[in-house]
Amino acid sequence: MSAIPPELPKPLRERAERSVAQLRAAVAEYKNVCYANSLGSESVVLTDLIWGSVPEIDIFSIDTGRLYPETYDLIERVQRRYARALRIYYPAAADLEAWVGANGINGFRDGLEQRRGCCAIRKVAPFRRAVSGRGAWVTGIRRGQSASRALAAPVEWDSEYGLHKVSPLLDWSEAEVWDYIRWKRLPYNSLHDSGFPSIGCAPCTRAVQNGEDERSGRWWWERAESRECGLHPRRKIPTAALG
Ligand code: SF4
Repeated sequence: MSAIPPELPKPLRERAERSVAQLRAAVAEYKNVCYANSLGSESVVLTDLIWGSVPEIDIFSIDTGRLYPETYDLIERVQRRYARALRIYYPAAADLEAWVGANGINGFRDGLEQRRGCCAIRKVAPFRRAVSGRGAWVTGIRRGQSASRALAAPVEWDSEYGLHKVSPLLDWSEAEVWDYIRWKRLPYNSLHDSGFPSIGCAPCTRAVQNGEDERSGRWWWERAESRECGLHPRRKIPTAALG
């Protein structure tokens, strides 16, 4: 059965078809492609497109150990819907124990260096293992999510991890993501109904107010330009774009 139902409104169907075409082109070009599923609203759209139309792309998620209970519920519901298992990567226990021993259980709040240290162990290291030996990884970032992500390209060379990075939802709006979720009745994280447009680890994510940047609930105590976990580059943003 097609992942993209013909009854979808034409603009949305065309958006989805373009994203699938981009995913297929990535498989043709880079062969061994994986998708880093971050379990947000974009992720359920991409999971549906991949498992419905480009199933040769491996999907994985990272369990940092500090996720919201609602996020674990979502993993369960997604797996049940597609009768497929997400591959879950975990931080290295010894590294995590050493870091918590040195910095404290919530030491990531003590400064940018500590926060990046926690993300490095809980997210970046498992991610590095997951993409090792791959030709490309897929991400669900959209231009509308932040000033930094607005500068991204659909396909980029990811010099940090040594493979290509493909962003098939880059030009989707938040409204299109939600239209697709509703049309297909996809499972999604229930925190999205409580003001969370972007959901990461529980201690580092909060709800946002109407009109705020979608990413403003992530590491909200930091300056906007530092709010990435290390999987996406922190681009130099023109001063004018920061408003
Ligand atoms: Fe640690 Fe917060 Fe980064 Fe999660 S988001 S890995 S809890 S610093």
